[in-house]
Parts: sequence; structure tokens; C-alpha cells
Amino acid sequence: MGSIFCLTMSVNAQQSAGKIRIIMFGAHPDDCDERSSGTAALFVQMGYAVKFVSVTNGDAGHQTLKGKELAKRRYAETQEAAKRLGIIYDVLDNHDGLLMPSLEVRLQIIKEIREWNADLVFAPRPNDYHPDHRYTGVLVQDAAYMVAVPNIEPEVPALRKNPVFLYYEDHFQRPNPFRPDIAVDISSTYDKKIADLDAHQSQMYEWLPWIGHYSDEVPQSEADRIKWLAKRTARPINAETRASLEKWYGKERADKVQYVETFEICEYGAQPKDDDIKRLLPMLGK
Ligand SMILES: [Zn+2]
Repeated sequence: MGSIFCLTMSVNAQQSAGKIRIIMFGAHPDDCDERSSGTAALFVQMGYAVKFVSVTNGDAGHQTLKGKELAKRRYAETQEAAKRLGIIYDVLDNHDGLLMPSLEVRLQIIKEIREWNADLVFAPRPNDYHPDHRYTGVLVQDAAYMVAVPNIEPEVPALRKNPVFLYYEDHFQRPNPFRPDIAVDISSTYDKKIADLDAHQSQMYEWLPWIGHYSDEVPQSEADRIKWLAKRTARPINAETRASLEKWYGKERADKVQYVETFEICEYGAQPKDDDIKRLLPMLGK
């Protein structure tokens, strides 16, 4: 009872303090981490509540493990990642590789957004190569208006505000390329991002190298693996992203940024002006 009471108090305290509440969706139990854990770590440092949600349980992403055994290992990895980042990590029990944009899953997403009382919702764009990523994008889009409609999923109170929805960066060009509306300097939390990714051992050091044919590059020792992962995760910053960094941080600071995460504003949900973006992502310019 004690812990439930404390949780309720802390949520209320955060709401009364006007703190921003953030929920990030990924298809698999390492997707949010890859796209936005540097930004999540910055939110946590500012004392804001962040939740990651994996829409599938990850039970297909391995070359030797599968089913319940794999789902269990990956769930443990999410909880280790959550501990390292200081966030909550939920895993929905839908099969990996078989996700459909069904009504059932749409209602699961609506519930998650409402229960978290989210101000900001992050998701993949619906034109990714992986069907689970694509349908996670569609499912979150399908929830974007319905979170405010009381007659849908009536046992969870509808939101009276519509959150702002943001897309993670991707490199897909059709039907339209990703647009870096928002660029977050994650240079100060890049190490946290790598520590978070390192928690997903079955993916970073086993499955992704196997499916990508680079297993022989994975170092043996833990220290070498972290260094290798940091190097592998780093991306060059293109001109469009630099321009976005300059907009939010000014030129002098933008030139010094080493690591970045970028986001596109979704056409659904609340449509933020620049001042709203600065209020919702207070790390911009700081
Ligand atoms: Zn994925």
C-alpha cells in the first residue's frame, strides 16, 4: 500500500508542478532506446516523468532463442535499461514480427497515453522498412484523436488536452523524407544512451550483428563492447540537422554539437508553435 500511495502522490505532485509527461512508443524492446534515449535522459535530468512502451514483446528477435524464453530475456533487458535511464519501461504482450494495426492494439495504445496523462507522444513514422515499426506508427496515429474521445475505451478517462505527437528520425524517402523539425543536442547524455543500449545485450551484441552479418566485429570484453557500441551508434550530422540545431540553439552552440536526436512534428494531435516546443522540450537552447 505504501508504495502505491507514494506513486500517486508523486504523480499528483508532478502534475501540480506543471511538469511535462512524456511517453515514447517503439515496436520492439530496444526501439525507443535507439531513437530517443539521449533525449529521454535529458528529460529525466530535469525531473520529468518518462515512459517507454514496446508494442511487441520482442519474441522473434534472435537467431537461437525464441518465444517465451526470448520475451523473458528481453523484458529483463528493458527493466535494466529503465534502471539505467531512470524511466518506466512497459512491454505489451503482442508477438514480434506479427504486429497488425488492429482495434485491439489501438485500444492498448489509447490506454497507455491516457493513463500516463501524456503531454508529448513519440512514435516511428508509418513508412519504415519493418512492418512492426510501420504499424506502430499507424497505431499511434490512430490513437492521436481518439485519446480525447470519452466514448472510446470509456473505463479510462479521456484526455481533456490533445498531446503533441512527434516522429523519430528515419532515412526512408517515400512517400516523403523525414524532416528534422526539432534537433536535440544529446552530447551530454550520449554516454547514458550507450549505457542504455548496452542493457539490450541480446540485441546489440547478438541478434543485430547476426542479422546484419557483422558478428565477427563484436568485441569480447565488456569495456571494449561499450566503446565499439558508442562508435557504431554515432552518426554524422547532415546540413538539414545542423540548420535545425542552429534554429533551436544558435549558431555558436550548434557548431559544437557532437551527438543529436531529431524529431518531426506529426500533423495529428496538438499543433505546437515554436514557443510551445520550447516549453515542452525545455532542454532546447540550454
Ligand atoms: Zn525495432
